[in-house]
Amino acid sequence: MTAIDSTRLKMMFDTIAATIEADKDRLCQLDGVIGDADHGIAMALGFNAARDAVAGLDLAASEPTALLNTAAKSFLNAVGASSGPLYATAFMRAAAAVKGKATLAEEDVIAMFTAMAQGIKDRGKAVPGEKTMVDAWQPAAEAAGAAHDAGKSLAESLAAALAAAERGAEATKEMIAAKGRSSRLGERSLGHIDPGAASAVTVIGAIRSSLG
Ligand code: ADP
Ligand code: MG
Repeated sequence: MTAIDSTRLKMMFDTIAATIEADKDRLCQLDGVIGDADHGIAMALGFNAARDAVAGLDLAASEPTALLNTAAKSFLNAVGASSGPLYATAFMRAAAAVKGKATLAEEDVIAMFTAMAQGIKDRGKAVPGEKTMVDAWQPAAEAAGAAHDAGKSLAESLAAALAAAERGAEATKEMIAAKGRSSRLGERSLGHIDPGAASAVTVIGAIRSSLG
């Protein structure tokens, strides 16, 4: 088991940015159906900014908390859409969850991941069933925590999180949007996947492949 340090976290931001960039058009299309068609652009702007800001750090002198706070700040500054403060809060909470640690053990990564989901919930005040990214993030965090508590490895726990996020995002098709821009559509939002839940699957998949 390798402990995760700032170099690994930098690689995680490289991977998330590349994966989101590749998914940008699909995310804009999904947002075009029930929103304003900018979700892929917003997420790509945010994660490209986070990647660039993290790349500018002296990693030998930056603990995970400092790196994650840098990512949070740059994400917030780069994104005007609602996903900006949501992911910025996620990374700020991730930073707080690993404060004082130079390297992260498996339980620290689980704590960091759980804190991200909680940050998104606290910032947006959405609960499961309201057709938002919370419908992917919350079950993902629960699945990661449950797998870890059951003695699974980090790779297995993050794989469980990804599977739960996929199921959660798919389930948003059957939900009526109650938060954010698409809530204006009411029942017309039914039948369509929530773009923020879809991008959460992409982000969680990139976290799994870089930390798992
Ligand atoms: P905007 O709606 O400002 O254009 P984006 O297109 O970047 O922002 O993001 C839209 C996504 O943000 C939605 O699909 C939804 O998942 C998420 N979202 C919106 N409001 C909230 C909220 N209050 N809590 C959690 N997620 C939210
Ligand atoms: Mg949008």
